[in-house]
Amino acid sequence: MQIKLPFSRRREVTPETWTVCPSCESQIFNRQLERNLRVCPTCGHHFRMGIGQRIELLLDDGSFVEHDAGLESGDPLGFHDQKPYLDRLEAAHVKTGLREAAVWGIGTIDGQRIAIGLFDFHFMGGSMGSVVGEKLARCFEAALVERIPAIVVSASGGARMQEGTLSLLQLAKTTAPLVRLDAAGIPFISILTDPTTGGVLASFASLGDVILAEPKALIGFAGARVASGTVGEELPEGFQSAESLLEHGFVDDIVPRSELRATVSRLLRLMPVAPVEDGWQTTGEARGWGPIGVLSGMAERFGTAVSETIGIEVEHPPADDSGPTAQRPGEDER
Ligand SMILES: [Zn+2]
Repeated sequence: MQIKLPFSRRREVTPETWTVCPSCESQIFNRQLERNLRVCPTCGHHFRMGIGQRIELLLDDGSFVEHDAGLESGDPLGFHDQKPYLDRLEAAHVKTGLREAAVWGIGTIDGQRIAIGLFDFHFMGGSMGSVVGEKLARCFEAALVERIPAIVVSASGGARMQEGTLSLLQLAKTTAPLVRLDAAGIPFISILTDPTTGGVLASFASLGDVILAEPKALIGFAGARVASGTVGEELPEGFQSAESLLEHGFVDDIVPRSELRATVSRLLRLMPVAPVEDGWQTTGEARGWGPIGVLSGMAERFGTAVSETIGIEVEHPPADDSGPTAQRPGEDER
């Protein structure tokens, strides 16, 4: 068996080697592809990107400091399919040089300090097990403590099946701190890259105050065939593309890789962290630009109508109940 040392990368970037673009079938020298941010110079196809390249693309040089690099998955279920889970983890580690499918750390973008989490799809399909969930939760918690914006660049096949229900718990674990970020007036920017699917899309990745996607990225919950079978309908071609999601309002913008850093930098300036003295830290008032704030604001305004639409029974207090939970912001001024 050929053994590669961790962190040593195969010499892919040599003038002799080239890659065929899956979209336009043109041959691209790998060196040219790397220089062009892994974007096809002919048709603009965005190839997948590793974490190191992504950090170079987005963050100020040398500003990234990784946290919790030593966190490693155990095998709590003793899971074994064709191979033991621990063997799969080891193989992914040797292949990518990473210890898990995601890393998080603190860095700066044009001097603006941020907490950032990044996925690598090459590590077990970027799947989210306990360690990935824990890293993201810590990323969000650090953003809350330091009062700096949070950013996550997702590329994931979803929850990691080798950790069963424990993987599903990560949906709650990564979502809960975002509610607190929202209440504290701290922005979260979610960047969806090819592919962002399953439990990752179904949790934190959909909860960005701003959600950006890379061109033609596959974004969806289940596979196209399963989704079509579930609703019992033919679904239009490309319904899980970034472009289709933008058209239907699930994504705020599609940003080519060459403009991603400038766009994120501009967003960070446009959405400053709310000052503590404004009461954001403590009251958690609904806010205009956050999806959680918008949803809870809608629920407050429309009450029954919304709960009926989404099919959930909600108990409503009697109309004359003026308890603190039924009080709307600004009501006492009337
Ligand atoms: Zn191409």
